[in-house]
Amino acid sequence: PLVLGIETSCDETGVGIVRGHTLLADAIASSVDEHARFGGVVPEVASRAHLEAIVPTMERALAEAGVTIADIDAIAVTSGPGLAGALLVGVAAAKGYALAAEKPVYGVNHLAAHVAVDTLEHGPLPEPAIALLVSGGHSSLLRVDDLAGGVTPLGATIDDAAGEAFDKVARLLGLPFPGGPWIDREARAGDAGAIGFPRGLTAAKDLAAHRYDFSFSGLKTAVARWVEARQRAGEPVPVADVAASFQEAVCDVLVGKALDACRTSGIDTLVIGGGVAANSRLRAMAEHRAAKHGIRVRVPRPKLCTDNGAMVAALGSHLVASGVAPSRLDLPADSALPLTTVSV
Ligand code: ATP
Ligand code: MG
Ligand code: FE
Repeated sequence: PLVLGIETSCDETGVGIVRGHTLLADAIASSVDEHARFGGVVPEVASRAHLEAIVPTMERALAEAGVTIADIDAIAVTSGPGLAGALLVGVAAAKGYALAAEKPVYGVNHLAAHVAVDTLEHGPLPEPAIALLVSGGHSSLLRVDDLAGGVTPLGATIDDAAGEAFDKVARLLGLPFPGGPWIDREARAGDAGAIGFPRGLTAAKDLAAHRYDFSFSGLKTAVARWVEARQRAGEPVPVADVAASFQEAVCDVLVGKALDACRTSGIDTLVIGGGVAANSRLRAMAEHRAAKHGIRVRVPRPKLCTDNGAMVAALGSHLVASGVAPSRLDLPADSALPLTTVSV
């Protein structure tokens, strides 16, 4: 099927078009520069930017794919989770286009779309698979028995998301927002073994109740204390070493728990999605350690890891192919849509 996907859950206005598993267009307008001076995404600013960008981005995607709205078989849109006002812009636009062009519309889960986008790169996802979802607002381990609706959470962060930890640590190192890509870059010149930062929820006493859960707020505090101690002593902060050592701690826990889930459940496919999946160390470490256990790692190219419309189109395409019924035209924008609701 030819499916158009609309994404407006945060600060990216994305429109993607796919045919089956083939990516035809991936148009994005970002308001990230407007948020940078506030050190985080400002919801009102994001909503307004989506309103301005949605129609031009839609037109850009259609032109890029060389199709018209009449050619499209279905429109998919992020129904949640995300910023309420931002989601509303995409959902309202999807309804408008669907009504005008008489197309079915699918309201989909943004987090499931972060997992589904990998099908554009590597084809159908073997089921069952274990999914590690690591983004700006979420960090979860999932068992995926059916990407069209059978998703079971195994664990999640009990405090900060992985991307949030990257952004907060970048901020205290004086790096720009969003900090994940900056930490990634700085870390390349640093020594990952320079500082032994804590690995949250990996001690024997924590594993009983939190085997597949994550915690990054203690790590963030440990980095802050370490940096402050340096500054108080009047010594320079070795930014590259701190970045590399912090990144190593995050990746070590993410990869360790994800591979544990694979081995315990006897599942040999690990798919990684979400903005943090763009991290070069996470990708390399996952590949390297998984290979030792005969586990295949699937991670889409970095540009598809962060928010985009193609991921929404990819999930929509999979839902259409799986025979899932479209959403009602009064589908909601749900800022707290649960991970288990793949489509509304
Ligand atoms: P969610 O998907 O939970 O709603 P979001 O949509 O805001 O959150 P994404 O766009 O999926 O988040 O991911 C953004 C996050 O990914 C940011 O925290 C950013 O710092 C992080 N990120 C992006 N690139 C990298 C990288 N190379 N290394 C580490 N983190 C990264
Ligand atoms: Mg973003
Ligand atoms: Fe996201």
